[in-house]
Amino acid sequence: MAGQPRLTVALTFDHDAISSEVDQGHGPVLRSRGQFGPRVGVPRVLALLERERISATWFVPGHTIATFPASVAAIVAGGHELGCHAWAHEDLAEHPDDERAIIERSFAALSAAAGIAPTGFRAPYWSLGPRTLEHVADLGFRYDSSLMADDVHPYRVPVDERHDRAVSDLGRPGPLVEIPISWALDDWPQFEPGPRGVGPMSAPSKVLEIWAGELRYAWEHEPGGVLTITMHPEAIGRGHRLAMLEEFIGIARSLDGVVFERLDQVVGRWLAGDASPPAPR
Ligand SMILES: [Zn+2]
Repeated sequence: MAGQPRLTVALTFDHDAISSEVDQGHGPVLRSRGQFGPRVGVPRVLALLERERISATWFVPGHTIATFPASVAAIVAGGHELGCHAWAHEDLAEHPDDERAIIERSFAALSAAAGIAPTGFRAPYWSLGPRTLEHVADLGFRYDSSLMADDVHPYRVPVDERHDRAVSDLGRPGPLVEIPISWALDDWPQFEPGPRGVGPMSAPSKVLEIWAGELRYAWEHEPGGVLTITMHPEAIGRGHRLAMLEEFIGIARSLDGVVFERLDQVVGRWLAGDASPPAPR
């Protein structure tokens, strides 16, 4: 563990803006909720990250880059990483024939916006088709952040899995690194109601209890782990929730040996010490 932080916290933001509402044909009200992201949420989040001197990872659909270029430029100017999140926030499991083209188009837009090719991918809705991650690896990405087989330890996305009701073959380690995620560490299902306001809208104290509980457990029991938090500017950018994020950052900072990093930095460090390189073909 020499040279490794005791625990890394990765703050990640899915800058969906209005992409999923447009993709799903929602009307002006839900589109306006999405617009709160670039209009209010992103500037507030960027100001907080600058005050705290934290670099973060932002997964940005191509539609957001094309529609809100100034918002994405401000993120790049803040020293943050851009990752791929499809084009119009498509559910890629429903696009088996054109998912590769969707990812390629997004890759090109991200490369132009950031001046550097993206290395990370996160599936919209954390929904993957059977071949999505094969395309992602083929297109040169180094990591995915859509799976849940671990909580704080990166691992290799398996290839050649075969699943049958009799028995499953779990395959072998592939080229992509997985940075695992969880709905428990995602602001959206905690905070955001569905259409007509029906849904959770948790108090931030409840979400802080969950996030800080995961943080303290990983710090105590899983040295070298990476706690990845997923947020959306239109959700976390509300005042009472942003105050909670600031409190969470303070709790993390109060623990010895906690650092904040972008996922590309986490993956570079993990690959340097990887004990399970992909099996040769
Ligand atoms: Zn998203």
